[in-house]
Formats: sequence, structure tokens, C-alpha cells
Amino acid sequence: MTILLVQTLILNFGTIKKFEALRLSDLRDKGQSSIIPLIDPAKSGFLKTPFDERIIARLLATTKIKGLTVYGLADLNKKEFNLISAYGEPTVLLIRDENNLAQTYRSGDGGTYEFIFRSSMLSGSHYIVVRMDSSEVQPMLFNYVIETLVIMLFMSLFVTTVLMIALGHWLLEPILFMRDNLLAAFKNPEDPQIQDSPFDTKDEIGTAINIAQKLIHQNAENIKRIKSAAEDKIHKLAYFDTLTGLPNRTLFVQTLGERARQLHDGSAERFAIITLDLDHFKDINDSMGHNIGDAILRGVGKRLRAAMPESAMVSKMGEDEYAIMMPLSTDLNTARDVAERVIDVIRSEPFKVFNEQFQVRASVGVSTFPDDGTDPDQVLKNADIALNRAKEEGRDVIKEYSEDFDRAVQQRFQLLRDLRDAMENNQLQLFYQPQLDLVTGRVIGAEALLRWWKPDNSKHGGTFIPPNEFIPVAEQSGLIVPIGEWVIETACRTAKGWLDNHGIDIRIAINVSASQFSQSDICAYTQKIITETMIKPHRVELEVTESVFMDDIQHTVQTLQNLHAIGVELAIDDFGTGYSSLSYLRQFPIDRLKIDQSFIRNALNDPDDAAIARTIIALGRSLGLKVIAEGVETAEHEKFLVSEGCDEVQGYRYSRPVPEDQFLAFVEAYDGTLASFKG
Ligand code: C2E
Ligand code: CA
Ligand code: CA
Repeated sequence: MTILLVQTLILNFGTIKKFEALRLSDLRDKGQSSIIPLIDPAKSGFLKTPFDERIIARLLATTKIKGLTVYGLADLNKKEFNLISAYGEPTVLLIRDENNLAQTYRSGDGGTYEFIFRSSMLSGSHYIVVRMDSSEVQPMLFNYVIETLVIMLFMSLFVTTVLMIALGHWLLEPILFMRDNLLAAFKNPEDPQIQDSPFDTKDEIGTAINIAQKLIHQNAENIKRIKSAAEDKIHKLAYFDTLTGLPNRTLFVQTLGERARQLHDGSAERFAIITLDLDHFKDINDSMGHNIGDAILRGVGKRLRAAMPESAMVSKMGEDEYAIMMPLSTDLNTARDVAERVIDVIRSEPFKVFNEQFQVRASVGVSTFPDDGTDPDQVLKNADIALNRAKEEGRDVIKEYSEDFDRAVQQRFQLLRDLRDAMENNQLQLFYQPQLDLVTGRVIGAEALLRWWKPDNSKHGGTFIPPNEFIPVAEQSGLIVPIGEWVIETACRTAKGWLDNHGIDIRIAINVSASQFSQSDICAYTQKIITETMIKPHRVELEVTESVFMDDIQHTVQTLQNLHAIGVELAIDDFGTGYSSLSYLRQFPIDRLKIDQSFIRNALNDPDDAAIARTIIALGRSLGLKVIAEGVETAEHEKFLVSEGCDEVQGYRYSRPVPEDQFLAFVEAYDGTLASFKG
């Protein structure tokens, strides 16, 4: 259409005018050639005027000439014209002077055309205005325009078609090809189904397609690479321990299942499962910081991995727990041997971190598949049971799984069930053991000690279960919290009763487990009981062992400070047996150190124990703390303690722990002098 329009404009401005002028000039030639015969050559160029009427009539009838007006020169010098004669239709053009002889006239409807025919070339002095019929020029012009337009239309059609075909072939096809490829890559960028380019890679579009295809492939490669890296990472996170890089519990359990299946198929051999737990790792971590703890964990992992053959799987199961799975056909041939190797590599030399040395020890549990169970999970569990046994036996021990352990576990469950019933049936009881002042000889306190009266079919109707048997179970199960609360309440109420009913104003010492600190708000509870019973707070003493300092230090400091703020006294029980650290003695608001009975028992025959007892007494004095000795059984013990300047005593020498009524009887019978009990 654009081509057509442009051509039409050109046609309008140029060709049509030219065509018309050409036609008019044709007409003029025709007119001239019709007139020339009128001029008589014999009369030396003079027109035969007046013209022969018949000739004129024929002229007008047979030619395009419609009318003639003949002018003559009136005076050659003056150049004036006068009309001589006129024929046919009158003409419009007038000859005035020689200057306008070139003029022509065209009627408004285009039907007539007039021009001036000068006979000068024939040396005549006549001028003729010729009026001609020009009506045929208009249709001719019209036809011409139509013709031209039709030709142009066809030409445009042709050009457009050719152009379209060329464009289609060289431009559209490649672009569509590229579009389809891009679309395919967009839909499935990871694996785009694109065809090879059939286009010449030398031209611009071919190059563009080529680059686009390369980009698509590159993109697919990148996605694949990123995906597989991400999958690797996810796999790593899911199956490996980030700290040591060792397989984690999930992978271990999974591999264990696979190996067990292979063994059933006969394509694998028996294998040992070793579980180990670092002893006192928590202490190192808490006191030295996580950096050191982490470094040790990594070091242990490295040593274990290096010590075990390729066929063994060394895995990190928990914070400070590791497990090893090893086929039993290698040079180390029993599970026990593997365990010994494990303990050896850890013990062999201390771990060096930041120029400090850390001696690490581990407890190890051992079980064998399929000897210790056909279910792989069970065998792992058995190794864990053995490990727990090892820890209970004092750590740094190897324990092989035995079926007896199961029985022991069952017994524990039974004990726990019975203990719950005991709580509900009021079978728990407190015994009291007096505490005496070594200087004044007076009874100044009593320690409340739990007893569990368990009815049975014996002739006594039951037995007392010692706290050492059931307290650990209560601690592990969380039952220690309600039991402990019952102890606090009963002890406070009893002591307040002694004051109110018997005028005995002494301190009551209550044992509190570390787990009571972590599992309950012991401070709030103690406060509540003190308010309820109206006992004087400084008459209440809580005995804690050093193990409370192994747990959350921050929390312990806060709780102990809160307790002290209430007015409650605090004693450290079994002092000297734990991780005695001088730093916490200054950090915590402690009133009393209780020398562990083992030192007192041996003080007289073991100089080391005597030295420890002496040191504790001196330490207490220098820190302004009272020191009480427990387990005082003999006069010699007492003498030793008096001579060393110990403040207070407690032990069988004065009284065993006894029920409340016996305790009251003791206090009433006691005359206030230590000496009277000698012997
Ligand atoms: P402990 O706090 O060190 O208690 C002292 C233990 O030594 C008591 O054993 C006591 O009977 C015993 N004992 C006292 N004087 C002598 C003596 O002269 N010679 C000998 N050989 N032993 C003596 P018991 O009552 O069997 O308590 C054992 C442990 O059970 C206690 O050790 C304490 O840790 C725990 N315990 C007792 N009652 C409670 C309680 O109410 N709550 C908590 N959490 N633990 C308790
Ligand atoms: Ca105690
Ligand atoms: Ca003790």
C-alpha cells in the first residue's frame, strides 16, 4: 500500500501533467497540419482569405478544428493586428500584440483548446486563432491514469510478494526457529529439547541463533551443576556431621541396616558395633569454651578414623558420642579388640589445642551383630546399653553387652514404677541424723535423709530401700522433682514442729540433686514452703554436690544467689570428691563445706586422705566458711577433727539417721558434751 501511495503521488505531480501537455501538443500539430493546406503556396505564403466557405466547412466537419479567427498585421511597423475574418465557433483568445502570441486557452470543462497559429514561417503576415475540440484528451488522461495505476498495483503486488518470500526465508524462519528453541529452553531449562541450527552461522541471524543455542546449553549445564552441588550439600548436611565430617547417626543407622541385610544374604560377615562417649566432655566444654570443645571433638574423630581400617564406619552420633561399625574378619578379630584399640587411641596421648593439653577419656560399649540380636537397631541399642553401664561403672571403661543388662534395665523400670506408687502411697519417709558443734558440743542441726519403706512378704513386712538405689532412677526419670519437693516441705515442717513443740531451735539440712536445679524452680518452691511453714530461713540449709556446677553455670549462679537472698544456707556435700575448683567457691554464696566421709574414714591410716581433710578445713577457714565432717564413726576420727580445727561433725559415733521420734529422744537424752558419748 505504501509503495502504491508513493507511486500515485509521483504520478499526480509529474506524469499526468506531462501526459496532458503531450496530448495537447499532439492536438496542436494536428490542427497545424490541417490548416497548412489552406495556405496557398502559390501566392507566396498568403492566406486565401476570405477562405473558401466550402473548404472551411469541410475543415470544420472533418477535423478537430471547431473555429478559426484570422488576424492580419495592420501596419508592419506598428505591429497592430486587426481581425480579418472568423469561421465556425467564435474563439476566446484575442491577439493584441506580438508579446502574447504564445498564449493558449483551455475551456473550463476541457472540451476546447485554442492556440495561435503564426504563419510567419511561411512569411505571411496572418495570425490564426485556432479553436480545437479537445474533449478526447480528458478520457485519454483518465485511461492513462487507470492503466498506470493497474500496472503499479501489479508491480507492488509482485514486489511485496517477492519481498515477503525473501523476508520469510531469510528473517522470519530463523526467528521462529530461535523462538521455538527459546520457548523449549524456557519450559525445560535443565534439559532443553532443541534442534541443531540449519542456518548459516556466518550471517548475522545465524550467528545470533548460534549464540542463543550456546547460551541455552550453557544455562542447562549451569543449572545441572548448581543442582548437583545443592544435592551434594543437602546430602552432606543430611548424612554427615558438620563438625567432624564423619557420617552422622542417620547414615550410620542406614548403613547398619544394609550391612545386616547383606549378612542375612550371606554376602557379609559378622560385625562389631562400638559406641563411645567422652568422659566429662561437658566440663571441658563449659569451662574451656566451645572452640576447645569442638577442636577436641574433631581430634577424636580424626584419631578414630585413622585407627580404623577402611572397611569400618566411624560415625559421630551425638554431641560427644561416636559409633564404629566394623566387620570382624580383619586383623583385629574380636569386638573387644576393636574397643580396646578405640580406648587406646584416645588415651594414648593428650589432645593439644592452642598449646594446651587435654587428657580425654572415653567410656565404650560393645555389641556384636548378629550375636547380640538379629535386629540391627536392637544391636545398636545394646551397644548403648553397654555404654551406659560403662559410664555407671565410673567411666573410662569398656563394657561388652550381656543379656543380664536387659534384666538390669527391666529391674530399673520396675523400680521406677514402684517408686511412683511409693510416692502416692506415702511410703517415703525422712530419717534425721544430728549434726554437732565440735567446740560447744551442742546439737546444732540435723540432716534429713530419705528412706523408702517397701512392704514385702518378709517377717518384717517390708524393707528400707537405701536412697543410693532409688535416687539415681528418680533423677533420670525426673521423678526427683516431686520427691525433692516433698522432702523440702516435710523437712521444713518437721523442723518447725521441733521448735514450736519442743523448743529445739536447730538447722535442718536438706539434700538437693543437681537435676532439681535444672528441672524445677527450686528457689520459688523453697520460698513458698518457708512462707507456709513460717520456719526461719537461716534454719534451712540446702546441701548440693559439686555436680550442680557442671550444668548450666549461669542458671546455677542465679539460683544459688536467689536462694541466698531468701536467707537459706548452702553447703557443698561430699566436698573433695568432685571437680573441686577454687573459682566457684569464691563465685557462689556458700556457707559450709562438708568433707566427704571417705576422707574421714581413711584419715587415720592414709596420710593422703588426712592431708585432704586438713586442706579442706584450712581452705574453709581461709574463705570464712564453716566446715563439717560427715562419717565420723570413732573417737579417733573426732579427735583428729578437733585437733585440725574442724567446726562441726556428723556420723554414727553420735547417731545413725533415725526416724523423727528417735531423733527427738536423742536430742533430749543428749547432755550437751561430746565426751559423754565417747567410748
Ligand atoms: P549423703 O548426703 O552423703 O548422706 C550421707 C550418707 O552417709 C547417708 O546415707 C548416711 O546414712 C550415711 N552416713 C551418715 N553417717 C555415717 C557414718 O558415720 N558412717 C557411714 N558409713 N555412713 C554414714 P544415706 O542415707 O543412705 O544416703 C545416701 C545418699 O542419698 C546421700 O548421701 C544423699 O546423696 C542421697 N540422699 C538421701 N536423701 C536424699 C534426699 O532427700 N534427696 C536427695 N536428692 N538425695 C538424698
Ligand atoms: Ca548430704
Ligand atoms: Ca555426703
